[in-house]
Amino acid sequence: MTTRFEASLDFARGMDQHDHIHKLRNEFLIPAGETGELIYFCGNSLGLQPRKAREAIDQELRDWENLAIDGFVKAKNPWLNYQYQFCKPFSKIVGCQENEVTVMNTLTVNLHLMLLSFYQPAGQKYKILMESGAFPSDQYAVESQVRFYNFNPDDAIIEIGPREGEKILRNEDLISAIEENRNSLALVILGGINYYTGQILDMKNISETAKKADIAIGFDLAHAAGNILLNLHDWGADFAVWCSYKYLNGGPGSVGGVFIHEKHIKNLKVRRMGGWWGNDEKTRFEMKRGFIPKADASGWNISTAQVFNMAALKASLDIFERTSMPELRSKSIDLSGYLEFLLSRCAGEGKYEIITPKKPDMHGAQLSLFFPKNGRHVFKCLLDAGIVVDFREPGVIRVAPTPLYNTFEEVYRFFEVLQHVYDGS
Ligand SMILES: *Cc1c(COP(=O)(O)O)cnc(C)c1O
Repeated sequence: MTTRFEASLDFARGMDQHDHIHKLRNEFLIPAGETGELIYFCGNSLGLQPRKAREAIDQELRDWENLAIDGFVKAKNPWLNYQYQFCKPFSKIVGCQENEVTVMNTLTVNLHLMLLSFYQPAGQKYKILMESGAFPSDQYAVESQVRFYNFNPDDAIIEIGPREGEKILRNEDLISAIEENRNSLALVILGGINYYTGQILDMKNISETAKKADIAIGFDLAHAAGNILLNLHDWGADFAVWCSYKYLNGGPGSVGGVFIHEKHIKNLKVRRMGGWWGNDEKTRFEMKRGFIPKADASGWNISTAQVFNMAALKASLDIFERTSMPELRSKSIDLSGYLEFLLSRCAGEGKYEIITPKKPDMHGAQLSLFFPKNGRHVFKCLLDAGIVVDFREPGVIRVAPTPLYNTFEEVYRFFEVLQHVYDGS
């Protein structure tokens, strides 16, 4: 097979020189290791700090200092409307209209709120379909929701996993499971990208299948938002939730994002948990009885905007605004493609296996490598070389070169360490 890549430092540096968004790396603070900047491949767990995050938080501190209560209307970014600043950048990141997206709370809380709105068990249709081995927080959320309605999780949750002897879930298996269980399913909830294997699910087809069968469909986009191209509105998903501290670099525990499809946002009858921030602004401060939700996704807001934590996210989304998801995705495909190319150069019997599907449209930035024998040792060698990745039992190292701040040279350095481990070269 011919390839456009070469396994050399010069080649990697050349790729960086030709990278149009290489300069955006300067917008991030790269942690200093003992022997120079770390090579940070953990943006899938916690994105790096935007250089301007501190100034953004300082701005709010100053406005609080100088304006106190008046900051709600007179701050540089009035706190009353703070959450609306995110609609435009997020609409581009998840592929939807600005009125279909909002920020509030954190991911798992939002997942619960969306389940309360869209999981509506009725008669025979009361089951929830999800992937087996979903992120624990999602498993706990779904389990506790079905218990909330007095169902037995063993009966009410249908889990779909890879076939015997396979590591990757097949989209066709998901689709046929949805079709086969159409009479008992009330809702399907899936991770757009699996946090462990890095696999992208076919969200378009899955959404269409669920909608045809009259089943609510939602996605957890924790590993997909800011990573791959999404088109939630056109796919017709009912809702999606994501956190903003992974590829979105909003900082630990930063505010979560929520998508609710247009077909629901104006329907004030869709049940939801009320709170004053979701109420129509015209009557919010009249403090009267009668909750009238806003007719957009922010009609699901409950409490006052979390200004400080949103400020850091804003600083990050301003960087996204200087590029575009197609441009980021295109670099990401090259970065992970280069990683895969290099990995294939030093692969060999019993060394490691890439468990992430190889086709570029089936994975985002992250590749997951399974080391049957010496995962912990390799992990330690990488750490010693200043390369930050993570290790998950039993022997999986997740490597996520992120296009906003990682370079081809860093990918090459990763390869050098692996070569050293195996060849001593
Ligand atoms: C990171 C992640 C979470 C984290 O949830 P929080 O409520 O933000 O702590 C949940 N689900 C998935 C799939 C994740 O990857």
